[in-house]
Amino acid sequence: MDEQNQKQRAELKKQHERTKRTLKIVGVLIAVAGLGLAVIGLVDMVSSASAGEMPSLFWGLIAGIPMLGVGGMLCLTGFRKEISRYLKNESVPVINETGREIAPAIGAMATAAKNAGENICPHCGKPNDEEAKFCRHCGGELSVICPNCGEKVKDGEFCDKCGTPLHR
Ligand SMILES: [Zn+2]
Ligand SMILES: [Zn+2]
Repeated sequence: MDEQNQKQRAELKKQHERTKRTLKIVGVLIAVAGLGLAVIGLVDMVSSASAGEMPSLFWGLIAGIPMLGVGGMLCLTGFRKEISRYLKNESVPVINETGREIAPAIGAMATAAKNAGENICPHCGKPNDEEAKFCRHCGGELSVICPNCGEKVKDGEFCDKCGTPLHR
């Protein structure tokens, strides 16, 4: 049963690969033919216009451009794996580089956000609910008297009333 499934899947994959190969070949052919027709039509139009005649191969341009579009799309579909692999390879170092640069900043921001949401006890260093007045771990008072403005403020790096550092 499993073996049959595997065989079926392998067969499907093979078929898929074959379809994609056909897509690539047909896509390239149509795109090249379309490009050729478009160029012929364009050249004919320009030369006819400069000679003051009606372009006779103008249809080449009209037929060539949609063919170029369709061929290009088929190519994109057929080469999607290659393209995405290329894009991935190209963008991974960029992401890594950016990540390395912004990781400390994100880490600091995450720590700040975490500390902002938590009410760290000045006595035991454990977090409490933001609205708590006393530490649930040691019973100590969570607010401190600011050395600058004398306000009773929540303990932290700085006084949230006047901005003075609280532990210096
Ligand atoms: Zn405590
Ligand atoms: Zn203060």
